[in-house]
Amino acid sequence: MNRQTILVVEDEPNIAEVIGLYLRRADYDVVTLHDGEAALAWLAANKPDLVVLDLMLPRVDGLEITRWLRSRGNIPIIMLTSRRQETDRILGLEMGADDYVVKPFSPRELVSRVRAVLRRVAAPGEDVVPGPALTCGDLTIDPATRLVTVAGREVTLTAREFDLLWWLASHPRQVFTRDQLLDHVWGLAEYIDPSTVTVHIRRLREKLEEDASNPRYIRTVWGVGYKFEP
Ligand code: CA
Repeated sequence: MNRQTILVVEDEPNIAEVIGLYLRRADYDVVTLHDGEAALAWLAANKPDLVVLDLMLPRVDGLEITRWLRSRGNIPIIMLTSRRQETDRILGLEMGADDYVVKPFSPRELVSRVRAVLRRVAAPGEDVVPGPALTCGDLTIDPATRLVTVAGREVTLTAREFDLLWWLASHPRQVFTRDQLLDHVWGLAEYIDPSTVTVHIRRLREKLEEDASNPRYIRTVWGVGYKFEP
């Protein structure tokens, strides 16, 4: 099999170098570019197997490149974003990116995301969490399509919100601490503030619950953590 080519667009030279190093070690061919304009010019003439794309880039930013790529096909994109940007821009990212990694990230984690996305592209459906849709009350969660509906109405969740909901719902009544949820759902090597979990729980409730202050599905177990009540 031919080696797969990955385009890395990252303006911080140290990060670009580390990413390149780890990806080459994982047997990918890597092309590294440092600004958005150069990336668009290169992409006009080349078709990589995947693009690792920093969100904040000089001249043309990652979101614009994502839009440009999506208007021309479906080359997989993994977006690099900083935690501060995540809250505001994740919805935009999800319109185009296949996955995103929050800086600072471990290069190993990025390589495993790259592998996972490429595997998903090569064999669609295989990498998706197996199992049938889960229905509780008026809530339906389908791990195959990652669709969530409440009383038949489709709810838009970010990838992480979906993963968190799926983890809780597929372990009904089991209580998880925030650290456990970080391990299972985030699973990254670097430190993430446990309040990230609180924020995601709140957003899930706002999106899913009839009364977010008196949740029916995602319950707080005071002093411990959270559980899903089917
Ligand atoms: Ca940047």
